[in-house]
Amino acid sequence: MNDKHHDINRREFLRRLGLGTASAFSLMAMGPLEGFAKPLWGRASVSPSGDEKGANSMTYRRQNGSGENISLLGFGMMRLPREQEEVDRLVDYAIAHGVNYFDTAPMYGGGRNEGVTGRTLSRYPRDKYYVATKMSNQNPQTWPFERSKEMYENSFRQLRVDYIDYYLLHSIGGGGMDALRGRFLDNGLLDFLVKEREAKRIRHLGFSYHGDVQVFDYLLDHHDKYHWDFVQIQMNYVDWRHAGRGRRRADADAEYLYGRLEKLGIQAVIMEPIRGGGLANVADEIKEQLRAVRPDDSPATWGFRWVGSFPNILTTLSGMNRMEHLEENVRTFSPLQPCTEAENELLARIADQMAGFPTIGCTTCEYCMPCPYGVDIPGNFAFYNKAVTDKMLPLPEPTAKDYAEKQDAFIKAYRAAIPAEKRATTCVDCGQCISKCPQQIRIPNQMSRIVELARKRRK
Ligand code: SF4
Ligand code: SF4
Repeated sequence: MNDKHHDINRREFLRRLGLGTASAFSLMAMGPLEGFAKPLWGRASVSPSGDEKGANSMTYRRQNGSGENISLLGFGMMRLPREQEEVDRLVDYAIAHGVNYFDTAPMYGGGRNEGVTGRTLSRYPRDKYYVATKMSNQNPQTWPFERSKEMYENSFRQLRVDYIDYYLLHSIGGGGMDALRGRFLDNGLLDFLVKEREAKRIRHLGFSYHGDVQVFDYLLDHHDKYHWDFVQIQMNYVDWRHAGRGRRRADADAEYLYGRLEKLGIQAVIMEPIRGGGLANVADEIKEQLRAVRPDDSPATWGFRWVGSFPNILTTLSGMNRMEHLEENVRTFSPLQPCTEAENELLARIADQMAGFPTIGCTTCEYCMPCPYGVDIPGNFAFYNKAVTDKMLPLPEPTAKDYAEKQDAFIKAYRAAIPAEKRATTCVDCGQCISKCPQQIRIPNQMSRIVELARKRRK
């Protein structure tokens, strides 16, 4: 990997955070971090439950160009409850507690969630929230200019707005430079979006990135031309130094991505701060290490605090489809208590430890679904990853003494968790899912591994 990817060492990382123990504690004593902004509209309203806890103490960041005050906790609208009333209940609680950034996309929820987001947010005055949506990238049939323009214009209808606060080229990097050229450059689409920003129908233009770092670098190398207002990257304490593990090629570590953005003065929006839930469901031995330092904090809270401690972050997206997750996240960010130097060192050690676990880097985003042969791809990977963290995996050698016992338990649990028609055994290696995965996972290869683990050996 290019040396550029490692040009921020750990000492520099800690220095940039400015989070020596003393400074962190003095900041905590001050409440919201220095340089953070106050909420845009004063006292937050009371939630339907009447609970005001956390109101007014949300941590905010100021958007560099516009001065907008954005809540450091952003609401990811990718996985939402089925019922609109339940979505409304979550959004009411979030807004009442100071969350004002909502991120959606035309493809989320099988094409449903952008409209759900529009319905729920349009109950509020337009200046009380910021909405982000995207030019989705996954279906090549939408690549011609006119089809893309239809997608763009439909977003206004779905969201019930006449301007979009934050608009992104969705998931650039998958498919490399050829896909970028075909999707956004050669058809004039990016030039069109830049003009839409000039016309103020888009307030801020950015892109979300997964995959081939050449594409990330290309777009940042042309910052003088496109003037990116923000960039959305995957960042968490494992991907900081271990992003490439288990993927089709070595992705750039978050340390590199964040470092490049910071140098250019482009604020980062963070996705996957807890790695698709993987950092919320950590192994017991890791939970113990975390509890020993902060007994009341969940592993997810640690993940959010780590990300939120970086100064060049505008907001941290979390998909919160359950009220208890939303409540916990609001507590974490109201106000954010940045990680101390010792805590950062602990998380760096834990990240090294976790990088040694044979988990699959699936974030359960479901971009690969549906599989035409019925495989529940994220379900299989989530089961496998839980087996790893729960130490149920029959590893490392089939000749090991307890292998047969562990394999029996694995097979039993697997059959109970995944119906036969959705198991890895149904995969025919057609390859249709591979290019859809933003995490660059070799999906059929990983399915073969699960099949192998679940295949009973003759005694
Ligand atoms: S490779 Fe396997 S999992 Fe992927 S789409 Fe084909 S059958 Fe489904
Ligand atoms: S395999 Fe890839 S595309 Fe599918 S759910 Fe997991 S991360 Fe998302």
